[in-house]
Amino acid sequence: MTSSAVIIVAAGRGNRFGGDLPKQYAGLAGAPILRHTVRAFLGHPRIGAVRVVYHPDDHDLYARAVDGLDLLSPVAGGASRQDSVRNGLESLAGLAPDRVLIHDAARPFIDAATIDRVLDALDEVPGAIPALPVTDTLKRGDASRVAGTVDRAGLWRAQTPQGFRFDAILEAHRALAGQDLTDDAALAEASGLAVARVDGSEDNVKITTQHDLARARALWEKTVTRVGTGFDVHRFTAGDHVWLCGLAIPHTHTLAGHSDADVALHALTDAVLGAIGDGDIGSHFPPSDDRWKGAASDRFLAHAVDLVRARGGRVEALDVTIICERPKIGPHRAAMVARVAQIAGLPPGRVSVKGTTTEGLGFTGRGEGIAAQAAATVSLPPGDDDAGQEG
Ligand code: MG
Repeated sequence: MTSSAVIIVAAGRGNRFGGDLPKQYAGLAGAPILRHTVRAFLGHPRIGAVRVVYHPDDHDLYARAVDGLDLLSPVAGGASRQDSVRNGLESLAGLAPDRVLIHDAARPFIDAATIDRVLDALDEVPGAIPALPVTDTLKRGDASRVAGTVDRAGLWRAQTPQGFRFDAILEAHRALAGQDLTDDAALAEASGLAVARVDGSEDNVKITTQHDLARARALWEKTVTRVGTGFDVHRFTAGDHVWLCGLAIPHTHTLAGHSDADVALHALTDAVLGAIGDGDIGSHFPPSDDRWKGAASDRFLAHAVDLVRARGGRVEALDVTIICERPKIGPHRAAMVARVAQIAGLPPGRVSVKGTTTEGLGFTGRGEGIAAQAAATVSLPPGDDDAGQEG
């Protein structure tokens, strides 16, 4: 898999924002805007390294904003945005990533699907930007008089992250230093690099003014958090291993089931589906369908997570408790956390796997089978189906 690095441009002074605090450090939902922006990339499974370009005067603000996050150390920006990006690119030259995404710190609502679209486009072209069509009618003129109407056909609103093959954009920045172009795609265009357009997101707004911040706060507060639970049981039968959390664990028996009978992944899948109110594992993967006979259950959980992403949401955390006397869960726990995180595309810190016995009581106590219960926390953007959920 190719490695992708991110440069987050946070060196601006925010002249249009007013006040003493640069806008990227203004508070939004209990944390500085920069922290939300950085976390959006750190939480993406295809991103290898994230570096912020900052203003050294903001060092204390920066340190507080990113406390506890796993970032490359920051580098100082330059006199213009273009200089700042070039400093960031030069600082990554030793790391030599295949691809780099360049993103504005003041766009905290960047979502995983937009990041994926930009990265996917780089398979075909050296540059790619998210952009949306212009919908307002455009007028030319001065502050008080309209001089004409501009045809908006073929015009797009560029967003970030703008993605590039690393060597190509570094070379473009070196060659065009001092031109003060307003975005990185402009450097790529001036260098003759092909730049693809992919769909941006209407929520991926840039916070430039106090009014933008007020709107961003309203948007964030409307984000819906939902919790789903799942429970599953499978019975022991003759065999020499069980599947739990996507791993084959040696055991005196196996679990009986239509698929691989991974009781933990089944409970997690139902928890994710429950959080978005989208049926259960049986309705998506009916046991009557021969396609799922003996199937590896990782695809069930991955599909449920994809359904969340398709709604513009994300899985925030997964937690599963495996209930049995044997096999012992403790020795496999770290590997199970890593495997579930991999399947769900989450950082391992957002996954929890626990084991418990029932003190010899009941069917698990008698060693007749294994049970699992799970919880999933999911955040979703505001939408029509949320009507009536609030207040
Ligand atoms: Mg099951």
